[in-house]
Amino acid sequence: MELKSKCPEGPIETRWEKHKFDLKLVNPANKRKYSIIVVGSGLAGGSASATLAELGYNVKCFCFQDSPRRAHSIAAQGGINAAKNYQNDGDSIYRLFYDTVKGGDFRARESNVYRLAQISVNIIDQCVAQGVPFAREYGGALTNRSFGGAQVSRTFYARGQTGQQLLIGAYQALERQIGLGKVQMFPRSEMLDLIVIDGKARGIVSRSLVTGKVETHLADAVVLGTGGYGNVFYLSTNAKGSNCTAIWRAYKRGAAMANPCFTQIHPTCIPVSGDYQSKLTLMSESLRNDGRIWVPLKKGDKRTPSQIPDAERDYYLERRYPSFGNLVPRDVASRAAKAVCDEGRGVGTGLGVYLDFGDAIKRLGKQGVKERYGNLFDMYERITGENPYEVPMRIYPAIHYTMGGLWVDYNLMTTIPGLYAIGEANFSDHGANRLGASALMQGLADGYFVLPYTIGDYLANTKLDKVDESHAAVRDAETAVAQQTKRFLSIKGSRTVASFHRELGKLVWDECGMARNEGGLKRAIAKIPELREQFWKNVSVLGTGEELNQSLENAGRVADFLEFGELMCVDALDRNESCGGHFREEFQTPDGEAKRNDDQYSYAAAWEYAGPGKAPILNKEPLTFEYVHPSQRSYK
Ligand SMILES: Cc1cc2nc3c(=O)[nH]c(=O)nc-3n(C[C@H](O)[C@H](O)[C@H](O)COP(=O)(O)OP(=O)(O)OC[C@H]3O[C@@H](n4cnc5c(N)ncnc54)[C@H](O)[C@@H]3O)c2cc1C
Repeated sequence: MELKSKCPEGPIETRWEKHKFDLKLVNPANKRKYSIIVVGSGLAGGSASATLAELGYNVKCFCFQDSPRRAHSIAAQGGINAAKNYQNDGDSIYRLFYDTVKGGDFRARESNVYRLAQISVNIIDQCVAQGVPFAREYGGALTNRSFGGAQVSRTFYARGQTGQQLLIGAYQALERQIGLGKVQMFPRSEMLDLIVIDGKARGIVSRSLVTGKVETHLADAVVLGTGGYGNVFYLSTNAKGSNCTAIWRAYKRGAAMANPCFTQIHPTCIPVSGDYQSKLTLMSESLRNDGRIWVPLKKGDKRTPSQIPDAERDYYLERRYPSFGNLVPRDVASRAAKAVCDEGRGVGTGLGVYLDFGDAIKRLGKQGVKERYGNLFDMYERITGENPYEVPMRIYPAIHYTMGGLWVDYNLMTTIPGLYAIGEANFSDHGANRLGASALMQGLADGYFVLPYTIGDYLANTKLDKVDESHAAVRDAETAVAQQTKRFLSIKGSRTVASFHRELGKLVWDECGMARNEGGLKRAIAKIPELREQFWKNVSVLGTGEELNQSLENAGRVADFLEFGELMCVDALDRNESCGGHFREEFQTPDGEAKRNDDQYSYAAAWEYAGPGKAPILNKEPLTFEYVHPSQRSYK
């Protein structure tokens, strides 16, 4: 497999502009002749569908929720970054670029990241024009707050509901195009296979989650904006429905999967409370603007937080990282929390640290804190029964986001011509660690501003023969979907789908979670195939395939996680270094920071499917850094 990143050359500031000029255009009359399938209606898929239709293409958009408005993006709380420098605090496109390359621990492409920083400013204008109610200063200007990994305030927000408000903007644009007949919407429909004809992506096979009907949809190009795979860990902050099926099936049809071991643990989540919990809840990173993180100085200190005087508290982030304090990037904050809990200084169940607003309330008043974070505080109280205005929140790291995903070139095309991946589904811009508030930025950059240009180049340059449903590749994909459904229903085993998922999740969390090592990864790689075998022998899927059947839906998703999880561990084992969220215990500095090995691992790992039962093939895209020279990340 040849990986051509297609990154333009020349001064980095002009690369995207020049590239856009070099891309072939499709004239407006011809756009009407093309059809594009977009799977996903989150910020990436929703914005792409609306924009492509606005340009004149015929779009079919799919999502598994009952409305495009319910995509997981709605959960995003804290904000979206943009280098507007409204605060006049020293921000610039270059600084956002720099922070993102450094924050990703030098495992992202410079050209992509620079483009992202450039486009960030357009996103805010676009969303404001749509009416997104970003928070404003008293005088009316948009206000900002700070997120991890940056020393400037560049995060735009709409209270703690930024994702929801941005999604409503994209959704309105999408609905407008649905009304105009340019987008055909397929809610409650799950893509279960990709149709590849003559080496090009030409359609999908989907299943109606209401009637079970399996349908084929053909098009000139296919876009996957299907989100991340964090739920491979079972417990995560992702929506319960988020899954890897679309990208995994694309992988099995020839799309390379990049850096699957790059997963992000978010430091501020509500700690796990029991074995039968099915979901974890994020407390937004924005809380680290004003909340102070601490644990007792003494091990096993059982006093209530108010009984522990300041001198007996360890504000360990402020102590270890005086420059960034509580706003160090997520990977650094998560590992530091794990370290103090491993020392026996955790609070609550022992796997928790305090996030304390006592000082902020003294400074801003309760009302001031409420205005900034009111809905997050209410949510915390509803879940834990504790009032965070009175006692510190208890938080612990949890799986939150996945930087890995389908490998894409600078045009966001995967290794299958005509198949694009956008948003969290691709691996593109965050390297080994995403900075807070940069996922929304990337999803919207891809959907509103990058893909609509680059896809035209493919369509204009490619001879696309007419295809119909009688094609052998279509029948092959339809048969594969029908056979899988039949197989699930015929097993009639005794274990629920969820029980397998929980077991897989625990295994990958233990061996490929916040810290990894060779022995543990080898154990996981040996155990996952055994679990998969048991699943295919003993899973219980009740009901039929011709009705609403969530057990059947979930069986398909878990079957894919059971394969994906193994690749994630294989990738983690192969990468003999620590970088960003990938922390291999064998590779750390004397003070416990991630130790990269740039000589050997400065590449994106793009795994290629080699067929059933065969080891995946590793392809490498070398990364070069002309502007931000790799150095040991320091937030001290
Ligand atoms: C709790 C939480 C808070 C967050 N807060 C922030 C924040 O403040 N700032 C920030 O930048 N990022 C934040 N993130 C990350 C960010 O929300 C996500 O990375 C981003 O929203 C992903 O958008 P997306 O469009 O790529 O995917 P999603 O929003 O996950 O959408 C995926 C879409 O694909 C569809 N889909 C998936 N598979 C299939 C299939 N097989 N068939 C049909 N349809 C399919 C789904 O139905 C859905 O429409 C947060 C994440 C979480 C979990």
